Amino acid sequence: MHSTDHNKPMNSQQRYDKYKRDREARRFYKSKAWLRCRKIVIIRDKYLCQRCLRQGKITKYDVVHHIKERKDYPELALDVNNLECLCHRCHNKYHPGKGKAEEKEIPKGVVVFAANEDID
Ligand SMILES: [Zn+2]
Ligand SMILES: [Zn+2]
Repeated sequence: MHSTDHNKPMNSQQRYDKYKRDREARRFYKSKAWLRCRKIVIIRDKYLCQRCLRQGKITKYDVVHHIKERKDYPELALDVNNLECLCHRCHNKYHPGKGKAEEKEIPKGVVVFAANEDID
């Protein structure tokens, strides 16, 4: 008779930690302080991806990114100097773990204009 160790369910502590982290993040991103901070950054960055802008491209932002990661520098989570607007493509470059960043580059000179859906 063999032991049936491999039938053990997934580590529930791990699952719990992830759940707790997600919940904490959700709470943070819904907080008034964050929403106010985010708005300041979006207006400061004129709704444009800052990384694209540094490369001479005009791209509408998709996310407000923490330059120093929130988990490493929680004290900078609401520091506008630690925040910048990025498009999804650029954001993926800063978080290579999250989804596969596309290798394809936008040809030089292509300008992407998007609707002002986020202006309120
Ligand atoms: Zn970009
Ligand atoms: Zn980010």
